[in-house]
Amino acid sequence: MISSKSVKGVLGYISHYALKTLVLPGNCTVFTFHRVLSEDEYRQTTFQKSIAVSDVALQHFILHIKSRFDVVSLQDMIDFKNGKKECSSKQAYACITFDDGWYDNYTNAFPILKAMNVPATVFLSTDFIGTDAGFWWQNLGDALSCKNLKGSQQDQLAKLLTPFVGEVAVDVWNVDDIIAVIKQDFYDQALNITEQALEIAGQRLLSHGLDWSHCDVMSEYGITFGSHTLSHPRLSLLEPSVLDKELSLSKRCIESKGVNYVNAICYPYGDVNGSVINAAEKIYDIGFTTQLGIADLNSTSLAEDLTNAGSMMSVPRINMPNNLALNTGRFNYRLIRAALRRR
Ligand SMILES: [Zn+2]
Repeated sequence: MISSKSVKGVLGYISHYALKTLVLPGNCTVFTFHRVLSEDEYRQTTFQKSIAVSDVALQHFILHIKSRFDVVSLQDMIDFKNGKKECSSKQAYACITFDDGWYDNYTNAFPILKAMNVPATVFLSTDFIGTDAGFWWQNLGDALSCKNLKGSQQDQLAKLLTPFVGEVAVDVWNVDDIIAVIKQDFYDQALNITEQALEIAGQRLLSHGLDWSHCDVMSEYGITFGSHTLSHPRLSLLEPSVLDKELSLSKRCIESKGVNYVNAICYPYGDVNGSVINAAEKIYDIGFTTQLGIADLNSTSLAEDLTNAGSMMSVPRINMPNNLALNTGRFNYRLIRAALRRR
């Protein structure tokens, strides 16, 4: 009798073999992280967990990919795609990226990257770097999941949110769902809602970003910095002049700080359309989306086709939540799914 364990084992072997010989060589897989927390912090996190990994998971992930990929810098990837550097059709390449510029990228991710000697790129939303500004979704989540809320505060929060997310009981609401609805449908009011929620919960707006001095130190160890705009807006909703400012001034800001800059843009929320791509390609060498896929190194088309993994301005990536970073079977399955998206 064939056990399900042995079937899984055979399937695992076949997928591993297919990835190694057919799928990954000659391509570049770009991995996306956001926050890196200590094990304790990760365990205690109750919202936005999908954009966090523990330091243990990150370490496990890097050890794993170093055995299967040549982990290169983003500049190497750009040079491969532009033909300025030669890449091998037999080698699988990978890049590691971090979105937003969280403070914990310095405290928790950087020591691991440095010790394991791998390059990585952090995409900075520059309004939040070295300032008191914080990411609205984290602040809103903190206010809504505060444990010591009185009944009257819960009532006020429910009243505040009802016009946006409908009537929900405070003790059963799903903070991630609320953030997702506001991000999608009430984006222009997100900051206002967050400020009101913080006031009701008796909390203050916290900052989450790196300092420029952190970026300086990281620059000395192979970490590069790209743009994630100024204020982390939904780019597709902006007037052309504001769009241009978000794209060009963030680049200028990072360059002016003298840190290790790479001429790359990562679109906040993965929110991108043809106009955004057109504006971005005048300024940047490469652009990254949140679409699942593996980048084709043999194509440099600048097409607006957002499903084209060969396009320089809409390069797909693989988002890495904690369970994917820790589980090789799931990781292989995600790689295959990403590869099937390739055109
Ligand atoms: Zn972001």
